[in-house]
Amino acid sequence: MLEVCNLSFSYGEVGLFQNLSFSLNSGQVRVILGPSGSGKTTLLHLLAGLLHIQQGDIRWLGQSIRGQNEETLAQRRLRFTGLVFQHHYLQAELTALENILVPGYLAGAVDVAWGRELLHRIGLLERAHLRPNALSGGERQRIAVARALYNRPKLLLADEPTGSLDRRNAERIWALMLSLAQDLGTAVIVATHDEHLVQGLPELRLA
Ligand code: ADP
Ligand code: MG
Repeated sequence: MLEVCNLSFSYGEVGLFQNLSFSLNSGQVRVILGPSGSGKTTLLHLLAGLLHIQQGDIRWLGQSIRGQNEETLAQRRLRFTGLVFQHHYLQAELTALENILVPGYLAGAVDVAWGRELLHRIGLLERAHLRPNALSGGERQRIAVARALYNRPKLLLADEPTGSLDRRNAERIWALMLSLAQDLGTAVIVATHDEHLVQGLPELRLA
């Protein structure tokens, strides 16, 4: 599904990674592990089509995304990719349920029953009507995960999704994200600097 071939990236003189190659099939998980500043976010942005490829290639469903225009890359993100960040980026004026439905509005297919089903699966159905400021950090991040999976993407890209949470919540949301993605057949690439969370999952180390 996804093939990364000899990918290199640098900011000016500063090389981040060189000749990175890996591939990912449907439903597989890969943890991008590395200290702060090692290029994890940069790699995820390249995979999402948010940064231009400098050297090497990324192939998605057999097709190179190198040189594709912004519109094509944006359509691919909307239809095939879910994104989760360290910060939840929920809309403050929308309820939990409405936040989860946002990708549906963007894709032109809103299914409230599916939104409620996702809320149920993350254990927050009874909080559907609350706005983010009435929810805890862990609850907000669970909603961000559900929102990213709403369109049943083929690939979930998560950048330090538990980086702002305490250990207990981090472990809980990490496990929830992986099991929900697995249920939907969604592959996951998740970046973290927390070795503790890897727990035997296939990893790719950046130095
Ligand atoms: P990580 O997510 O692993 O912490 P990043 O991909 O965010 O790493 O950043 C890797 C390195 O690239 C850091 O040293 C950072 O300062 C640098 N960097 C990130 N974005 C830019 C930019 N837009 N211009 C110049 N340097 C950048
Ligand atoms: Mg980062």
